[in-house]
Amino acid sequence: MTLPFIPFNKPYLSGRETRYIEEAVRSGKISGDGVFTRRCHTFFEAQFGFHKALLTTSCTDALEMAALLLRIQPGDEVIMPAYTFVSTANAFVLRGARIVFADSSAEHPNVDAEALESLVTPRTRAIVPVHYAGVACDMEAVQQVAARHGLAVVEDAAQAIGSRYKGRFLGTFGELAAFSFHETKNVTAGEGGLLAVNDPQYAERAEIIREKGTNRSAFFRGEVAKYNWVDVGSSFLPSDINAAYLWAQLEQLDDIQQRRRHIWQRYEAALQPLRALGVGLPHIPAYATEHNHHLFYLVCRSLAEREALIKHLAERQVLLVFHYLSLHRSPYYTAEHDGRALPWADHYADHLVRLPLYYELTPELQDRVIEGILTFYQYR
Ligand SMILES: *Cc1c(COP(=O)(O)O)cnc(C)c1O
Repeated sequence: MTLPFIPFNKPYLSGRETRYIEEAVRSGKISGDGVFTRRCHTFFEAQFGFHKALLTTSCTDALEMAALLLRIQPGDEVIMPAYTFVSTANAFVLRGARIVFADSSAEHPNVDAEALESLVTPRTRAIVPVHYAGVACDMEAVQQVAARHGLAVVEDAAQAIGSRYKGRFLGTFGELAAFSFHETKNVTAGEGGLLAVNDPQYAERAEIIREKGTNRSAFFRGEVAKYNWVDVGSSFLPSDINAAYLWAQLEQLDDIQQRRRHIWQRYEAALQPLRALGVGLPHIPAYATEHNHHLFYLVCRSLAEREALIKHLAERQVLLVFHYLSLHRSPYYTAEHDGRALPWADHYADHLVRLPLYYELTPELQDRVIEGILTFYQYR
């Protein structure tokens, strides 16, 4: 008998997705900003306290909107961790910015906030903290550096829906924040994202940029008599079909987060003994008062050990996956990087491995993952 394969991720399904999509289709209004989009906007603003929530076609697009809103230009510098997804950097590179990569902390993959200030120059415009695994960055430290030097803060909160820093929701700290609803995230629209606008000065222009540089949103609200081309922009708004899918998931947000917490905590308890061997488990700083259990990962002691662990689990029909390759060493950007060594970013690139974590992961399946890992380490 062959064991059922345990994937790394399985997108959550509430069961109402197709019903809401059908409702959207039957309503005859399936382009952007329909009934379901508005429902999602209201939910995000009420639930998390964003000044303005705008659904986008992806987190990548929300980050691109942020770069446009900040009027990032060639020669500007933007500070962000090297251990992140390409979209964090691309959004600003597209506007001609130079990326100044910061290292991760020794304790966790998030940016080492202590090191940020030394990277600020007269050309620095923004800091982009990335809340890896849905665990908060040290936002007070980030905001202090930003305030001292007059910099904007854009949170890459792609993985961080529902997580908090000292009790306050992530995505409310930056002037702007970007969330993802890609199928790998806690809640999904297939592809989708959200721009949270917290500084009211960006709210009106955010609507315009999202609607091809027109004031069409104001027109639909009856605030202007006709709509016009008033600024640069692109098409960043998703179809209401995607919003209908997302809404079916947002209705179940508490249940999703609770289930993930249960699975995450079960991993943490069962894999505790690995700490004594020097294998890393997620470190949750005290200021990350609540996190959304987006990922559970191990930090292996060597690259060879990680490869062997992945192979050991693959033989048991379990898929473990590593994560980012540091962007300062990427083929596209290595020549642009200023040459500073970023040893902790490289450390996580080479040693971190993610375990299966999804709503439908039953205790029986999870036990197979845990046993596979424990037997691997038994004789090492
Ligand atoms: C998933 C992710 C993104 C990109 O999100 P998309 O919605 O796929 O564009 C950006 N940054 C981080 C940190 C992510 O995890």
